[in-house]
Amino acid sequence: MIRNARLPDGSRHDIEIKDGRIAALRPPTASEPGVLLLPPLVDGHIHLDKTLLGLPWVPNQAAGNTVADRIAAERKVRSARTVSEIETGANLVKQVVASGTLHMRSHVDIDSQLGLKNLEAVLAIRERFRDLVSIQIAAFPQSGIARSPGTAGLLDEAIAQGADLVGGLDPVGIDGDLDGHLDAIFGIAGKRGGGIDVHLHDGGEGGIAQMLAIAERTRATGLRGKVAISHAFALGSVPTDLAARTADTLADAGIAIMSHGPGAGTIPPLLLLRAHGVEVFGGSDNIRDAWSPFGNGDMLERAMLIGYRANFRHDHELALAFEMVTAAAARVLDLADYGIRVGGPADFVAVEAGTLAEAVAARPRRKWVMKAGRIVARDGVLT
Ligand SMILES: [Zn+2]
Repeated sequence: MIRNARLPDGSRHDIEIKDGRIAALRPPTASEPGVLLLPPLVDGHIHLDKTLLGLPWVPNQAAGNTVADRIAAERKVRSARTVSEIETGANLVKQVVASGTLHMRSHVDIDSQLGLKNLEAVLAIRERFRDLVSIQIAAFPQSGIARSPGTAGLLDEAIAQGADLVGGLDPVGIDGDLDGHLDAIFGIAGKRGGGIDVHLHDGGEGGIAQMLAIAERTRATGLRGKVAISHAFALGSVPTDLAARTADTLADAGIAIMSHGPGAGTIPPLLLLRAHGVEVFGGSDNIRDAWSPFGNGDMLERAMLIGYRANFRHDHELALAFEMVTAAAARVLDLADYGIRVGGPADFVAVEAGTLAEAVAARPRRKWVMKAGRIVARDGVLT
C-alpha cells in the first residue's frame, strides 16, 4: 500500500498494490498533502550506442557545424574507443532508470562500416535490463542509405535480428536521394511490419517538402499511426500558415513529431501542432557523445528544456511538455500497459512537488522509482 499519494490530476488516494499491479485506489487515510506520484517517464528518442557516459571526458571533435561534420567527428571518436558500447550504454540505462524513465526508444547506428555491431550491443543491453526498462530499437542509417552502399540490406537484417522499427536520416540533406531513401525505409517497414522514425534536420521549405513526401508514403503504405519524424526543425522555420497546413497533412497521415527542445535550430510549433491534431512527443537525443557534450537522460529536465525553448509559461503548456515525456511518448511507442489506473502496472515516480507544473519547472529529485510494485531507485540511485 502506498498511503496518501497525490496523482497528477490532484486527486489523493491510498494505492493498493497486488502482484505488481494497481489493485485499488482507496480514499486517503491521512490528511497531510503526501507525495506526488507521476507515471513512469518515457524517453521517445535516445542513442544508447553513441553515449560515452562513464568514460573520461572526450572533447567534441567536429570540424564544423553541419550534420555531415558531426558524422565525420563521430567516426574519429568511435575508432578511438577502448570501452565497448555495451558498457557505456549500460551506464546510461542505469542513470535514466534512476531518474524515473522506464520505457525508451533507442536509435542504433547501422552503416556499411559498422554493420550490425551496435545493434548487437543494444540488444545485449536490452536483455540485461529487461526486468527494469522496455527498450524499443530503431535501426538508424546514420551515414545515409544511398551514400553508404549496403545499408538498406543491413537495416532489413537488423529488423530480422530484433530491431523494432526502421529509422531514416535527411533523405535530401544527407542522402541526396529523396525517393531512393523513402523507397528503402518504407519498403522494409512494409515487408517487416514495423514502424518508421526519421531524423529530419533539413529546414525551410525543403524540409517541409520531405515531410509531405513522408506523409504521402505513409498513407499509401497503410502505416498510419506508425510513423514519426524526429526534430522536424523545418516546421519552426517556415511561416505559420505553411506550418499549419503541413500540420493538417501530418495529422491526416497520423505522423508524430519528436522534439528534444533543441538548443540550436528551430523548435517545431508544439501548441500549433497539437491544436491541429498532431501527436508531439519528447526525447533526450544525444547524451554525452560525439554529437553533444550535454544531456543526462532526465526526462523531467527534458520537459523543462522543451518548455523553455518553446517559451511555455502557463500550467497547461507545462502540462503538454510533461505529456510529451509520458503519455504521448507512450502512445507513439505503442505501449499497451502504461498509465496510473486500477489494473495498470504499479510503476511510479515519486517527487516532492505541489503540482505537475511545478514538477516540470523545478524538476525535483526523484524520491523513489517503483517498477511493478518494487522500489528500483531511491534519491537518484538504483537500489
Ligand atoms: Zn537522434
